[in-house]
Amino acid sequence: MRIIILVGDGMGDRPLKALGGKTPLEEASTPNMDEVAKHGICGIMDPIAPGVRPGSAPSHLAILGYDPYKYYTGRGPFEAAGMGIRMEPTDVAFRCNFATINEEMFIVDRRAGRDTEGLDKLAAPLNGLRFNSAPRIQVEFKNATAHRAVLILRGQGLSSNVSDTDPEKINVPPLESRPLDDAPASALTAQIVNEFVQASNDILNTHEVNRNRVAAGRMPANYILVRGAGHPPKMHTLMEMYGFNSSACIAEVSLVKGVAFYAGMEIIDVPGSTAGLDSDIRAIGREALEALPNNELVLVNVKGSDVAGHDGNIEGKIEIIERIDEMVGDIWEEVNKEETYVVLTADHSTPIEVKDHSGDPVPLAIAGPMVRVDEVTSFNERSVAKGGLGRIRGVDLMPILIDLVGIAKKFGA
Ligand code: ZN
Ligand code: ZN
Repeated sequence: MRIIILVGDGMGDRPLKALGGKTPLEEASTPNMDEVAKHGICGIMDPIAPGVRPGSAPSHLAILGYDPYKYYTGRGPFEAAGMGIRMEPTDVAFRCNFATINEEMFIVDRRAGRDTEGLDKLAAPLNGLRFNSAPRIQVEFKNATAHRAVLILRGQGLSSNVSDTDPEKINVPPLESRPLDDAPASALTAQIVNEFVQASNDILNTHEVNRNRVAAGRMPANYILVRGAGHPPKMHTLMEMYGFNSSACIAEVSLVKGVAFYAGMEIIDVPGSTAGLDSDIRAIGREALEALPNNELVLVNVKGSDVAGHDGNIEGKIEIIERIDEMVGDIWEEVNKEETYVVLTADHSTPIEVKDHSGDPVPLAIAGPMVRVDEVTSFNERSVAKGGLGRIRGVDLMPILIDLVGIAKKFGA
């Protein structure tokens, strides 16, 4: 038996006046998702708990059966793992932004104008910096997608209990990192972060890439904003928890890939997947179908629906949902329905009106050989609420699936 979980990132939404009170998922034409709902058992799912606004990483942890409150240790270690950076338990990772700061040390743009020119060259001299105050601590710095980067502090005596330097707004100075408890390790870590930020600012200001950017009238990427400190989580793999021999994940962003890495999944990269509205979503579906014979669980995350939600882009969200629907159709048509459970859901809602994640529950459908098919015939936030699964939490999903595929352990005699 096999399981394929298809996650439309941030696909859930709220009723929109512009759509006559419908959600984008209700407005979009989704014959294939409706087909899955028709052959499945449906319900709504609170990714974390009712009213909790989930980040993508905690939500994917929950969907894979991990208590997010226990295993979500911060954004940094998940981003880093998703970029292929291997960490020791004592390392601390941070998620960073290349930003633009002016001479008065005020933040002009938190993403350096989303101008990625030369960021790899700018990252290079920051990697391997050492500080006299902590000569044994190694610094690893790597640029990631777009304006993003990760910072790893490596060595003994570090703590993740330090504050962010990113104020998450512009026209203000960046913050200093501060220790959040009295431990010497926290004081040391905050100090190293501040020294790194200072040293990197000096290097970036005079770097040739930035001189050229300024000469061309573009924003210099002359400052590193640091946030999301965390140690890598200590997680059992899906193999250890459920006895899967192998599992795989296709995701478009490193944050979700990082969750899959700690869960022991193989991470498959798909050419043409961009994490944006232009992503080749059908290529993602084809890779997922190819991975299915060799894996008992395949998790797929398509990012564009979240991006459209953050941008408040109604048309974009409807269009990407319809393209996800095509992928669902390709998969539904191809899979062996006698031995495959197809799961359709979202990791959270990113409502157009909110432009950020909300605490609304997300739609869920599970189709497969042994499910108690219910009366639901369309897949959207409202229709599935009448389904046989009722309302569950994200961490309930894997136990339900594990029971359906027949490998759940019995509780008691
Ligand atoms: Zn998400
Ligand atoms: Zn989002």
